[in-house]
Amino acid sequence: MDNDRPGGVAAKLLVSVRIRPLAAKEIIKDNIQTTARAIDDYSVCITEPTPAEGTDDFLQRTKERPKGRIYTFDQVFGETASQEEVFTRTVKGLIDGVVAGFNATVFAYGATGAGKTYTMLGTDTSPGIISLTLQQLFTVLAPPTTPLPQPTPTKTYTVTLTYLEIYNENIRDLLSGKSDYLDLREDAGRGVVVAGITSVNARSPDEVLAFLRKGNRYRTQEATGANEVSSRSHAVLQVLVGCTTIEKKGNRTERFGKLSMIDLAGSERAAETKNRGMRMIEGANINRSLLALGNCITALAEPSKRGKYVNYRDSKLTRLLKDSLGGNCRTAMIANISPASSNFDETLNTLKYATRAR
Ligand code: ADP
Ligand code: MG
Repeated sequence: MDNDRPGGVAAKLLVSVRIRPLAAKEIIKDNIQTTARAIDDYSVCITEPTPAEGTDDFLQRTKERPKGRIYTFDQVFGETASQEEVFTRTVKGLIDGVVAGFNATVFAYGATGAGKTYTMLGTDTSPGIISLTLQQLFTVLAPPTTPLPQPTPTKTYTVTLTYLEIYNENIRDLLSGKSDYLDLREDAGRGVVVAGITSVNARSPDEVLAFLRKGNRYRTQEATGANEVSSRSHAVLQVLVGCTTIEKKGNRTERFGKLSMIDLAGSERAAETKNRGMRMIEGANINRSLLALGNCITALAEPSKRGKYVNYRDSKLTRLLKDSLGGNCRTAMIANISPASSNFDETLNTLKYATRAR
């Protein structure tokens, strides 16, 4: 069918779950139990927390005996999984395709505090997927250390990147630091483009990380009822790998592969953050993008719907990703969850969302 690459249909959408470790403050707080745990490389077991002793709920539940529910995915990373392991088993395999001119998308889904930013960006001592991907990309593209006679046709690569956020269904450039909203356009050669966005040339992973750090300072962060600081925006890094081929006769062709790496906004429901007014609207918009993304992914994942119409128009996020989901594109979704009993509801919601994607 729509297959120009090895790996085939089965590898087009890869859904992984990553469970973060319990945080120190969760361990010392009374009554925190581990409710979500990996039971093997594929399955997560989630057990409803036991209600406080002596309450009616407790009596009811001890009669029923808490039962675990098991959800199965393409793969599951437990709390001890390293950044390298997550990278190697999710995104590493997409890089050659991007260099060959195919688009791919990686996104981290989950509630605020579940580990999305840790997975995508990581820390200085444990760099995340973005950093490891760029290192790998530059390794693949690096010319051999002992120059061989130039083969014909000759290929030259360029790596350019853009970094934006979608906040309240508006697109903002995170590299320019300007707060104007940008529009989406469709370009014959490059697919979906954001009109007027800053596009920077990157020559090394370190340079890219410097751009990202700068961009993150412009990211919209607001205090909400759910968390002290909650990320209410989707952050989208797009890496465009251009390849120019010059044939013996001097004919020149250009092709592009695009890798989108997305740290999604927190998936917790607006109702649970006990917000009013503006924050409620944001919640609704965040859900709109996440819902639209979920619908697109479900449509792409279901073989019966493959080839049928997928509605990208419902949100800015899906319109932006129109050329990067489905078709010849490959998608890796990493659903991040917390093992803490206090996060049980969000964890369950995330597992359900991810199950639907699979
Ligand atoms: P999110 O971006 O989903 O809101 P974060 O990535 O900021 O969540 O994670 C919340 C906290 O948990 C951070 O302090 C982060 O460093 C820590 N954390 C998340 N995942 C892991 C992990 N796999 N290993 C160690 N610490 C983690
Ligand atoms: Mg975050």
